[in-house]
Amino acid sequence: MIGNYPRKAKFTKKTNDLLERDARLISPSYTRDYPFFVQTGRGREVIDVEGNAFLDFGAGIAVCATGHCHPKVVSAIKAQTDEFLHMSGTDFFYRQQTDLAEKLGEIAGMKEGMVFYGNSGAEAVEAAMKLARFYKNKPGFIAFTGAFHGRTMGAVSLTASKAVQREYYAPLQPVAHTPYGDCNNCQFNHHRDHCAANGSVCIDYIEHTILGKVMPVGDCAAIVMEPIQGEGGYIVPEAFWMEDLQRLANKYDLLLICDEVQAGMGRTGKWFAHQNYDGFKPDIITFAKGIASGMPLGGIITERDLMRYWVPGSHASTFGGNPVSCAAALATINVIEEEDLLENANAKGKLLRTLLEENSRSIAVLENTRGLGLMSAVDIVGYKDGVPIRDTVLNKCFDKGLILLGCGKEGVRFCPALNITTEEICKCTEILFDTIKEVIK
Ligand code: PLP
Repeated sequence: MIGNYPRKAKFTKKTNDLLERDARLISPSYTRDYPFFVQTGRGREVIDVEGNAFLDFGAGIAVCATGHCHPKVVSAIKAQTDEFLHMSGTDFFYRQQTDLAEKLGEIAGMKEGMVFYGNSGAEAVEAAMKLARFYKNKPGFIAFTGAFHGRTMGAVSLTASKAVQREYYAPLQPVAHTPYGDCNNCQFNHHRDHCAANGSVCIDYIEHTILGKVMPVGDCAAIVMEPIQGEGGYIVPEAFWMEDLQRLANKYDLLLICDEVQAGMGRTGKWFAHQNYDGFKPDIITFAKGIASGMPLGGIITERDLMRYWVPGSHASTFGGNPVSCAAALATINVIEEEDLLENANAKGKLLRTLLEENSRSIAVLENTRGLGLMSAVDIVGYKDGVPIRDTVLNKCFDKGLILLGCGKEGVRFCPALNITTEEICKCTEILFDTIKEVIK
């Protein structure tokens, strides 16, 4: 339900006390954007401890795929908690893991899929890196500038989104970073048409400079990529870039790791974002975030031909693939299927981008609408009074009861629950456009 949003979230002593307590007790390393203390969440609405309602276009950073507390997901979680909470898939068997693995192999389009479970996106990426190293017996990786793959030591070695995420953590794993296929912001100043016709200049750079001079093929296990670069700015690569990347990986027999932690689980209108690109076939797919509608779960999917090389003890996790999380994931997949949420993600994403594009004709600071499905973004460019207009706008939207997240340098990302409605898309854009006009006038 939407409407009745506070004109300005009023924070009383209650929130201020909680903020003060949090500042004393919780690590300062988190990057909280808003002074928002959540009390309850239902559907696409979250309510803070003061009773203020907010329309949530962040969905817990693209996690609450079926909305907050979808009744079918909650009931699957409750049913599982009546049976058992934990047994550890490292040492014992339970069918929730196999039921889910069967489904994941199917939706990933694997011939004979196999799954490894962890608890988070970073653990999924660690597993992918370890499997690639184990199989290839080579230490190195190629990853992309702007990438975000997580914060554990392996994953942060691949991450190249913001310096603060890497600073003082060296030495990291051997990773050579290279420009992503961002044709709107080409690091080589080439035009997309030139690359479409002659081959991507940035893939050529990987072949001749990265593999030729920096990370020799003999040391390189895999290329790690996001099918849409997430934290980097919701950058959607061109189909020819994906083809060129696949060709390069095949030519040098490098594993292709597709990090679907943010883009996967229906967010782009396909189960996995790379499925929007015909013929693209990663060796390892990572998943997390949206898979269990908010319960912690992550992991990797590969063909059995690859994962079968691991031997008992090569990798494991006490909590990974927890039965309650697996039950939530199975319910999430069922809800996505039953409620046709892939189609909804496509349709609502299209509507959102149409509204953004139409309005960017009259609102000068609104530029560069992009995205697939409900992984969409727009830039709000420029500064006012020395502050990025994007930041002022997002803060004011929050005051009006709309939660939006930034991404990249000037981007605003839209990653709501996959069951977002037309009314909610219109409400969100109305608040956003009105706020931009107020800020720039
Ligand atoms: N990979 C991608 C593409 C992500 O977007 C993220 C988180 O934003 C991660 C990995 C890390 O996930 P987590 O925060 O669950 O460790």
